[in-house]
Amino acid sequence: MSVLVTGGTGYIGSHTCVDFIEKGQDIVILDNLCNSKIEVLDYIEQITGIRPKFYQCDLLDKEGMKKIFDENDIDTVIHFAGLKAVGESVAKPIEYYKNNITGTLNLIEEMRDHNCFKLVFSSSATVYGKPKSVPIKEDFPLSTTNPYGTTKLYIEQILKDLCVADDRFSVVLLRYFNPIGAHSSGLIGDNPNGIPNNLMPYVTRVAKGVLPHLNVFGNDYETADGTGVRDFIHVLDLAAGHYAALKALSNPGVSIYNLGTGNGVSVLDIINTFERVTGIKIPYQIAPRRPGDIAECFADASKAEFELGWKATRGLDEMCASAWNFESKHS
Ligand code: NAD
Ligand code: UDP
Repeated sequence: MSVLVTGGTGYIGSHTCVDFIEKGQDIVILDNLCNSKIEVLDYIEQITGIRPKFYQCDLLDKEGMKKIFDENDIDTVIHFAGLKAVGESVAKPIEYYKNNITGTLNLIEEMRDHNCFKLVFSSSATVYGKPKSVPIKEDFPLSTTNPYGTTKLYIEQILKDLCVADDRFSVVLLRYFNPIGAHSSGLIGDNPNGIPNNLMPYVTRVAKGVLPHLNVFGNDYETADGTGVRDFIHVLDLAAGHYAALKALSNPGVSIYNLGTGNGVSVLDIINTFERVTGIKIPYQIAPRRPGDIAECFADASKAEFELGWKATRGLDEMCASAWNFESKHS
């Protein structure tokens, strides 16, 4: 039996593929390469010694998807594929809803038609909107402020409805906090096109001298140092959370887990840690708050620990060092 990994050449997907292969799980990757490169397959092979089967296929291509299910014995799907840039989603809502929602509908239809009923979906802490308090628990109210977040919320709802309608399905919704860092080989990592939106890839590009300075979006939040606080988690810990989540696929219906460390870390903490572990100075300027940002967002990750036996183990030093190791080896 194989696990189909949609979006498997992307940032989180590639690390999860490595983790699964190293644990002996046979995988098949589907990706349309709209935000990743084919070379990632070489890197996965260099790290693990195994080259996974790959289909360059779009979730919107029903025929292509059918072929993958026809040709492979897939019993579980890990569904990463999707567009993820918040700002772009505001400018291009049609493309985001079509890609993420129609893409997921196509996927679950093919799954049903091929008697494949186990699905792990990449959701996000963005579905908590502006949380009433921190740490955030899975049963907090849900809301969103941009089309990207709305696609995550709607897909969660679609999958909940699916499980009500068809009790053969078992779905795990994983709500990721802020994945950063990279595999220790420096071969795979976060490599966004153009100017990064997220903090860590921006910091590593400033460190490399590609960008002149970091803009710190606001230092007047109600936090210890005034800058935004997030729950940064090493991407390898996040990857391992997917393997742990397979356990919950023996339960019928929908299970929901936060994947975070449970620690709040500020933007200035990231800059200071990065400078200390790499020895590279990060010039920064205080800029206005970024629209839509919240002061604090970090997880209560105890449910995943209690029910899945999963816990993040890697610290901030390793996250910063590995992110820099990756950036310094890639153009
Ligand atoms: P990524 O862009 O690196 O990976 C996504 C992959 O999906 C890419 O390789 C892309 O080419 C592929 N893809 C997109 N649309 C596709 C389509 N229609 N058909 C086939 N392939 C398609 O992103 P990532 O950071 O690895 O994120 C993976 C998932 O996790 C996404 O669903 C994202 O929304 C979610 N997520 C990411 C973060 C984060 O901070 N990175 C946080 C929360 C949730
Ligand atoms: N941030 C920043 N400068 C940047 C990018 C991000 O100060 O160039 C801050 C942002 O305001 C937030 C934190 O870093 O407080 C994490 O932002 P990111 O976009 O990485 O993740 P998210 O907003 O999804 O939590």
